[in-house]
Amino acid sequence: MPSFATEVKNELAHQKPARKECCRRAELAALLRLGGQRPAESPEGSLSFVTENAAVARLVLTLIKSELPGVLTKIAVSRGRRLKKTNSYAIMLLPSPTLNNLLNPADKGGRHKKSLDRYLVRRTCCQVAYLKGAFLARGSVSRPTADYHLEIATENQPLAALIRDLLERLDFTPGDSERKDAYVVYLKEGEAVMDFLGMLKAEAAVEAFESAKNLKEVRGQVNRLVNCETANLQRIGEAAARQMEAIGKLDKVGLLPTLNKTLRETAAARRNNPEASLAELAAILCVSKSGLNHRLRKLMELARG
Ligand SMILES: [Zn+2]
Repeated sequence: MPSFATEVKNELAHQKPARKECCRRAELAALLRLGGQRPAESPEGSLSFVTENAAVARLVLTLIKSELPGVLTKIAVSRGRRLKKTNSYAIMLLPSPTLNNLLNPADKGGRHKKSLDRYLVRRTCCQVAYLKGAFLARGSVSRPTADYHLEIATENQPLAALIRDLLERLDFTPGDSERKDAYVVYLKEGEAVMDFLGMLKAEAAVEAFESAKNLKEVRGQVNRLVNCETANLQRIGEAAARQMEAIGKLDKVGLLPTLNKTLRETAAARRNNPEASLAELAAILCVSKSGLNHRLRKLMELARG
């Protein structure tokens, strides 16, 4: 079974490309920024986008064709090793002014260079598109039946800060942490993860979240009932133990045989049925619960002396 993250990425990557050019550019920039590597032995300015997800690779090629006309690409597929069966797709983008213009538009007074992609995400529509690209490139999400966790990882600290910032601008409350070589921005709560997937219009994923949430709620209710029952049993147990103790004490000091018949019968019934609840003991003795309660209280009183 593919991981939940793979399922979500497949769903997202199969969506129709964004209607607006601004959003398509923002999404592609995020994909290349997070999923791209600068291959050492290739011409300067080239970029290699690597993914294990075929649908994501296809999406990147489609976006390159529409948004970066004239950029030459080479595609390499490496078969997974024997144990790790997944293929890996590498899309190499050769140096070009259009690519440079998308990722390094430093010409306009060098202003943009410092503010990493921020010129691409001024509008809300583009912020959502950028986060979609980032998630497709380096995102992960746990299956909602486990815990609630969605994250985007990158080795680039300013990029992690940008993603965090975008999430905050869209009213999320992300957390962040550092892992081996990556900065991780994450969402932890079920509602937040569901809102994020809903924002990206991943309808099947949202549905999976909703049904998992319902299941968890039902399970919570059952647990609460069981806990309540256990607490009741415990309470019964404690009361019975106190009564047993009182009866034992009366016996020890020789008072038990001197009691009237009903009290003697009650003491004997309790001793013979140490686990019985008040109702059960009342049924055994053919008295009302309040009548039995009265007798037990009397026994306790006598034992106290
Ligand atoms: Zn837009």
